[in-house]
Amino acid sequence: MNYCNQCGNTVELTIPDGDNRPRHVCTHCQTIHYVNPRIVAGTLPVYDGKILLCKRAIEPRRGYWTLPGGFMENGEGTAQAAERETWEEAFARVEAGPLLSMITVTHISQVHLFFLAEMDKAEYSSGPESLEVELFAPEDIPWDELAFSTVEQTLRNYLDDSVDNNTPQVFNIDRNRQSVTT
Ligand code: ZN
Repeated sequence: MNYCNQCGNTVELTIPDGDNRPRHVCTHCQTIHYVNPRIVAGTLPVYDGKILLCKRAIEPRRGYWTLPGGFMENGEGTAQAAERETWEEAFARVEAGPLLSMITVTHISQVHLFFLAEMDKAEYSSGPESLEVELFAPEDIPWDELAFSTVEQTLRNYLDDSVDNNTPQVFNIDRNRQSVTT
């Protein structure tokens, strides 16, 4: 950030009074511009035991497979965001069910949420952000071609019989620390 979105003057990185970390503060109107983690919401759509995956048509990770999901918009709920993204990326109408995972990706300041979504019918097709959309039996999942570690973790937990899918898996991934903590 270089300029204040309130008055257009320059901002400087400084620790405001009473705070404990650097923020972008306007040199003119003193507005403090807080930057906080963003939420990515998606679904794990299931039809007849198979899982719907989308091959990404956009960067990052173009050509790799992902669960449908994306950035939450202002004014919507998390499940609503997940359902909307599933429609936009896979043209699949789903209703978000139980939360499967809530994964904080610390090194990119994002929180990824995935909901289980049972599909009533096998109706889907590629949205503008997808090259292909396909149902995969568990044994056919392209583990080496998945786009994101949060997608891989969510799929592994879902398919692991020892994991209760009615209890969300909550953990952090921090690539800077090369650790996964629960
Ligand atoms: Zn300002």
